[in-house]
Amino acid sequence: MKARYKYRIYPNHVQIQKLSQLFGCCRYVWNQSLAHCNQLYADGIKKPSYTDLTKQFITQAKRELLWLKEVASTPLQQSLKDLDQAYKNFFNSCTGKRKGIKVKPPKFKSRKSRQTARFVGVNYQINRDKIYLPKVGKIKIFWSRPLASQPTSVTIIRDSAHRYFASFVVETNAEFLPKTDNYIGIDLGISTFATLSNGEKYEAPKPLKQNLKKLAKFQRKLVKTQPGSKRRERRRLKVAKLHGKIKDMRTDFLHKLSTNLVRKYDTIVLEDLNVSGMVSYGMLRKRNPKLAKAISDLGWRQFRTLTEAKCEKYGREFRVINRWEPTSQKCSCCGFKGGKKELNVREWTCISCGTFHDRDVNAAVNILNTLTAQTVVMSREASLQPITKVKKAVELENPVQLSLFNEVAEGQRSIIYRTRSSRKTRRKKQASSNDVSTRPESFKQRASV
Ligand SMILES: [Zn+2]
Repeated sequence: MKARYKYRIYPNHVQIQKLSQLFGCCRYVWNQSLAHCNQLYADGIKKPSYTDLTKQFITQAKRELLWLKEVASTPLQQSLKDLDQAYKNFFNSCTGKRKGIKVKPPKFKSRKSRQTARFVGVNYQINRDKIYLPKVGKIKIFWSRPLASQPTSVTIIRDSAHRYFASFVVETNAEFLPKTDNYIGIDLGISTFATLSNGEKYEAPKPLKQNLKKLAKFQRKLVKTQPGSKRRERRRLKVAKLHGKIKDMRTDFLHKLSTNLVRKYDTIVLEDLNVSGMVSYGMLRKRNPKLAKAISDLGWRQFRTLTEAKCEKYGREFRVINRWEPTSQKCSCCGFKGGKKELNVREWTCISCGTFHDRDVNAAVNILNTLTAQTVVMSREASLQPITKVKKAVELENPVQLSLFNEVAEGQRSIIYRTRSSRKTRRKKQASSNDVSTRPESFKQRASV
């Protein structure tokens, strides 16, 4: 399993100069090759291979442009490798070979955004407090944690707030944590960041909201300056630094929460939220820009990515349930669907069984229950597409099927919660009325037990 280890580095003035030269050369090679590929595409000619591009834009270019020789050559080659990979991802996404979000074609790199250069192999050396890069020198590095093993590559990064980092790729082994026999469903929300199915709630810091006034002030000052002036650059840096701080606050919280959860629970179930769709395309921006901003401020997607990676690392199970599952509409006790609820309804009482619900806790329990129901169907049918089958059963809303579906879910749930006495007693109650549950009209009766 591959992992990234990122450390802050502190180059001196000379090294900063040399690094910016290196970034510039990598960017030049990338942009020239990309322009060449775009031109060929416009003429209807196939994209040249990585070897052809290297010959033309590194080997030949070095004869004419002497400044290309002043930097290490590995990062230049890696830059073209990245371009090749970017094209591959784009083509595979177009043909359907690559699943997920549609990949866009590679773009030109800008001098103003984040800069990177990658060294591989024996090109660089690391020691106790320095990292040696060819033609740059020994840069001071702060080892905030030990490296897991010998790294295969290092990427030198300069972010837009002018901070420098070294990001290593290392091969790590999964370290399995001891089993806890705990399962958890998590509902992500806006007012409360994460609500667990056992009732625990986690509030998120809202760094963007906290710093919005400051950010607006900085940005107002920025737009008043002359483009290209030194003052503008100074003010741009201030804005970028604040953005960096906001991002760090968010990431710190998400890391701590995901680690905590992965330590405590064997299986973690999340809802598959279409976050980017919610924020950018859909209704939210048009109808409610504040909500879109609030969602971006939380970092739901990042939370999922981090949790997923940590589950893999520590040998935990990570599951995602279908996004169309009516988790906030359904009563987690009897399965009765109470219809859509507005966002401001935080608590409600089930009209079928009379249970009082906290909206988020109920949704989290439903998320956990949906998973257990899906697993049961999976083992019964032994087919490869069980999830769609369950979804259909729910969509039909046929009382007979729904009651059967709930029975299956109920049975599985009781196995999971075998340690909890309250669930046990409810199971006993329901077992006594199971014999009539196949008749449609009895569904409500059963539910009201
Ligand atoms: Zn109910």
